[in-house]
Amino acid sequence: MAVNTEQYQQIRQELGSEVTLVAVSKIKPVEDIKALYDLGQRDFGENYVQELVEKQLLLPSDIRWHFIGHLQSNKVKYIAPFVHLIHGVDSYKLLLEIEKQAAKNLRTIQCLLQVHIAREETKFGFNAAELADIMEILKKGQLQHVQVRGLMGMASFTEDEQHIQKEFIYLKGLFDEYFPSLHPGLPTSVADSQSLVSEYPSSNPSLPVLSMGMSSDYRLAIACGSNMIRVGSLLFGARSKP
Ligand SMILES: *Cc1c(COP(=O)(O)O)cnc(C)c1O
Repeated sequence: MAVNTEQYQQIRQELGSEVTLVAVSKIKPVEDIKALYDLGQRDFGENYVQELVEKQLLLPSDIRWHFIGHLQSNKVKYIAPFVHLIHGVDSYKLLLEIEKQAAKNLRTIQCLLQVHIAREETKFGFNAAELADIMEILKKGQLQHVQVRGLMGMASFTEDEQHIQKEFIYLKGLFDEYFPSLHPGLPTSVADSQSLVSEYPSSNPSLPVLSMGMSSDYRLAIACGSNMIRVGSLLFGARSKP
């Protein structure tokens, strides 16, 4: 089995409870997911709709499934019944379709808006002006079955750490502008602090989410203010192309 459980335990310790680790299991078999599940991991990320639907059927129902890939509107219906968080929302049209499918399933679907921060044109996401526009539209409150929790971004594919850092800081700036934390202070009672620890930040709906950082740059991302990282190859081993 290719799962690196030592690496997993080490990352968990590093993160404490302030950063949610999404284990990115795309292309990896359900046995590998189960291995991390048995160690307590509950947040898993997938990129492909059909693969996610198949795995979801085979694995425990308390897994929080994150869709982190590029989502086509016509496929939202397949994941709408169970998906926990959709990271890569990159058009208003897609958001409207998620709203429609969430309503049909009598649920609220949590989403992140993807921001284009990388140099590569092949990556998806809003630019700053488009993000401003969509935040204006969202303020009107017409989407009742979608909860936009925060932002997601992918840095450029480069070894240049300073460049990656610049992109992360830029995204954190937008995040702070549009998703100021509702609970900046420390919890006041022990009960509060315990519930904050167990729920922070993935499943506490009042806390905004900034999803940035992958295997190669998660430490840098956290230093730049990320509270959700998406880590695949460090945990599951390298992927061959699908
Ligand atoms: C594959 C993928 C990851 C994980 O990448 P690793 O480098 O294997 O950690 C994270 N985010 C997205 C959007 C991905 O597609």
